[in-house]
Amino acid sequence: MKWHEMGQTELLNVTKTSIEKGLTEKEVKKRLERHGANELLEGEKTSALALFFSQFKDFMVLVLLAATLVSGFLGEYIDAIAIIAIIFVNGILGFFQERKAEKSLQALKELSAPQVTALRDGSWVKIPSKELVPGDVVRFSSGDRIGADLRLIETKSLEIEESALTGESLPVSKQSERFQASDVSLGDLKNMAFMGTLVTRGSGIGIVIGTGMNSAMGKIADMLESAGNAATPLQRRLEELGKILIVAALLLTLLVVVAGVVRGHDLYSMFLAGVSLAVAAIPEGLPAIVTVALSLGVQRMIRQKSIVRKLPAVETLGCASIICSDKTGTMTQNKMTVTHVWSEGKTWNVSGIGYDPQGSFSMNGRDIQVKNHKSLQQVLLFGALCNSSSIIEEDGEFRLDGDPTEGALLTAAKKAGFTDRYVGEHFKIVEEFPFDSARKMMSVVAEDASGKRFVIAKGAPDVLMKRSSAVYKEGRREPFSKERLAETNTALEMLASQALRTIAVAYKPVKESANLSIEKAESDLTFIGLMGMIDPPRPEVKQAIKECRDAGIKTVMITGDHVTTAQAIAKQLGLLPRGGKVMDGQTLNELTQEELTEIVEDVYVFARVSPEHKLKIVTAYQENGHVVAMTGDGVNDAPAIKQADIGIAMGITGTDVAKEASSLILVDDNFATIKSAIKEGRNIYENIRKFIRYLLASNVGEILVMLFAMMLALPLPLVPIQILWVNLVTDGLPAMALGMDQPEGDVMRRKPRHPKEGVFARGLGWKVVSRGFLIGAATLAAFMFIYHRNPDALAYAQTVAFATLVLAQLIHVFDCRSERSIFERNPFENVYLLGAVLSSIVLMLVVIYYPPLQPIFHTVPILMADWLLIIGMSAIPTFLLAGSLLTRKK
Ligand code: ATP
Repeated sequence: MKWHEMGQTELLNVTKTSIEKGLTEKEVKKRLERHGANELLEGEKTSALALFFSQFKDFMVLVLLAATLVSGFLGEYIDAIAIIAIIFVNGILGFFQERKAEKSLQALKELSAPQVTALRDGSWVKIPSKELVPGDVVRFSSGDRIGADLRLIETKSLEIEESALTGESLPVSKQSERFQASDVSLGDLKNMAFMGTLVTRGSGIGIVIGTGMNSAMGKIADMLESAGNAATPLQRRLEELGKILIVAALLLTLLVVVAGVVRGHDLYSMFLAGVSLAVAAIPEGLPAIVTVALSLGVQRMIRQKSIVRKLPAVETLGCASIICSDKTGTMTQNKMTVTHVWSEGKTWNVSGIGYDPQGSFSMNGRDIQVKNHKSLQQVLLFGALCNSSSIIEEDGEFRLDGDPTEGALLTAAKKAGFTDRYVGEHFKIVEEFPFDSARKMMSVVAEDASGKRFVIAKGAPDVLMKRSSAVYKEGRREPFSKERLAETNTALEMLASQALRTIAVAYKPVKESANLSIEKAESDLTFIGLMGMIDPPRPEVKQAIKECRDAGIKTVMITGDHVTTAQAIAKQLGLLPRGGKVMDGQTLNELTQEELTEIVEDVYVFARVSPEHKLKIVTAYQENGHVVAMTGDGVNDAPAIKQADIGIAMGITGTDVAKEASSLILVDDNFATIKSAIKEGRNIYENIRKFIRYLLASNVGEILVMLFAMMLALPLPLVPIQILWVNLVTDGLPAMALGMDQPEGDVMRRKPRHPKEGVFARGLGWKVVSRGFLIGAATLAAFMFIYHRNPDALAYAQTVAFATLVLAQLIHVFDCRSERSIFERNPFENVYLLGAVLSSIVLMLVVIYYPPLQPIFHTVPILMADWLLIIGMSAIPTFLLAGSLLTRKK
């Protein structure tokens, strides 16, 4: 028998599972072993060995290897072996850098891997979709991606978009009944849902029948392309820059060689020196260090609860000038409690907090009995009936399974004695039209014990008022007259101005046999009353909004909630400045894109908007030149999230669709996390600038010391192996440590960076050239001084030059930590940098003073007195300019 032909009993028998309990963990383990993980097999990855060899593919490294071999044949064994050893170690370092970069990218992918809700050992749990096995009972709702092939056993207005499989872009509606048909295509299997397809509406429950490569998707997986990791704009710019730098380094090196030969050096030793210099001066490690810095930053961001899905977002974050954020759950706690009920012109207060059903009702300060107030009773009961959430009590704690707005209504009803049991015994829900944020309402058809049926609707009050033709008054329906409308509107304003979220309840009796469409069910209703609930702001958000403002970033609230409620909360959060405007969805509809673009700068709050409006809002800000971050959670938010420069999805409440469209996920749904991510984004970019500055200035210094010496007809101030050593030890480690540097104190007080800003902007180019020049000059000066003191001891002078170059770079690295001046920062703050610098110094001392290494590195022990010269000269490049800068500031 085929899957679609099976009834529920056969299905459960074949899959050996239970609808009530799902599978046990033990059984899951067994099935995982038998069927394997629920994953599509990916294409081949580069092997470690290939990655290792790719480190030596660089042209200049090959030339150096060849030159070294030649010198080996000519009898310079020590030099040859030492150079090869250094190249080898360099290759290993490069290998580990790239491996780390690759691994952390992989880890990122896994973090944002899809989750599903499955029934295990009797309770619904969220698990990574790759842990699904055949027989698992899973449930899903609008916005979810189906985790495996399912046979459906329950559906509620379920529609699924299957274009990934069938090419059909319109969603198809699904149901759970079996049917007979022998030759059916995938698209006709209405009682099945397939891995990788998208739930666009409604909800459902199904049993897993195919996982991994055994799913319909698995069978066509070969046709799927893997997404690949896009390079970030900075990485691409650096790649371009790298090419220019290579040419520049080669030209300068050539110049050094020619100058040397013209000044009487022999061709062979100049050639070897030139190639070593080229290898040292070409910043081939830069791309890998950038990737490592980016991914280390990304890991720090994860610790601060934001997951970067697309690496380029890290850079864009630093440019963000507008954050458009949802209100409910992001700026507020999404912990709702009904505090007010209004009906027939009367207002009742409700006490109690959270989902604990302890609380009482009062009117004008006096406690009342709910049973004496018919309309209050109706509002509360209907709020509980038109509801798809539930509250579970565990060890005295009350946990919500579902939507917080509905949780609040359930709790309020329980306070009046309408417990789950009472509701279950007296009513039956025969049809449900789920909530969606475009309709802003939900409705059900309920049947009472006597078999009478009625529609109950709840939703945004303005929406329900439009759909109601009558109003409830003293147990009867009367027309929704102008007076009644005005009275209701006043009540609504009264609740909303206290920052309360409002929900209205309406109903209408229907015939038992009526087959209702959603339009029919949700029209011609009788309005009963309103409920107002608090949703307190998250305590940290006010401060975060302020910090963003200081950082030149404007925060905009976008909410489906009522205008007055939104305005009141915006004020509480300090988001709405004097003169700042609040715009509603209606106005947004009426404005053209151009008109909106013109006035959007003054708007801080968009209220009563539908998800579709978000796209218009993002575009308006972008047309004004802003870099926009936009949050969202639902299916309909996806286009706006995609359009935004930084699309942000909610980790907890976000649907798979929103997450897939996003470049950043907030693990805790919290607005303050966006601020932390932006801060980190700015810091990562600054850190990259720091080590670019350090590496390039070092390289400029290395080239110039050689160039100047050749032009002055001096001997070589550094021998090839020393140059390679500097490149390996002094350049690499401190640069990596700069990538992990702490942000400067004022990162969140600067304006956002312009997205088109070049790498060398804000004086970086000047800093590289000037510091590089000074490092070269100081090294040469130290060399010349010692050399002229005793021209016979060339090796000694070279050792002094070597030490000066190393120290000058290691001092300069501290200057690179600040955009302003070395004195702005505490040098002991970055322990990685301290470690890198100290170990570089120790290694340098070992090379100079450890006798067995001296012939290899052509070093001679330096006398104590000469260290004064070395330290003095190496401090000059950094402190000369730092000092002049300081005086200029005064
Ligand atoms: P955000 O601030 O994130 O946009 P929101 O909750 O205010 O969130 P929506 O979820 O679109 O925005 O809700 C819009 C309106 O719909 C709410 O103000 C409320 O009146 C109503 N509403 C919300 N949840 C439900 C629900 N479960 N059933 C019926 N009506 C609801």
